[in-house]
Amino acid sequence: MRSREVNRMNASLINHFRKTLEASLSEVSQNISAMKSDLALIAEVQPTAFLDCADHGKEESDLNTRFRVHEHDTATLKKVQGALNRINRGCFGRCAECDEEIDIRRLEVQPSVTLCFSCQEDEERILRSYRSGARNPSWSDEHEAVLDLSA
Ligand SMILES: [Zn+2]
Repeated sequence: MRSREVNRMNASLINHFRKTLEASLSEVSQNISAMKSDLALIAEVQPTAFLDCADHGKEESDLNTRFRVHEHDTATLKKVQGALNRINRGCFGRCAECDEEIDIRRLEVQPSVTLCFSCQEDEERILRSYRSGARNPSWSDEHEAVLDLSA
């Protein structure tokens, strides 16, 4: 009985998640604007840096790393904004795929999560097979050839 109650979304939990999300929103926004002025400064003092970055991929350049961090921050910002929108619309904590309630413990770890555990697992399985196929196309060709022979 008690564990079920703990596991249900209520107004004070919503408040708690809203605060958490707002805190990460301001943190990520600060990172992004700091990074933007950083990159603008680099472009100003060293206009060829961006070209170098694209042309010489041998070394993992500092600029490259910063771009990736920036991309990651931008993606996080979108997720956090999406979660705050869901709070405002009153559908926070529900799976975007199957509309079941997402486990509170899961939301505690990552309040911006949009899928329940089983839908997330499904998605990761699809992504994994897609990625391994894209990264290593020869393997799947070979694999299919073997399957064809046995058929
Ligand atoms: Zn689901």
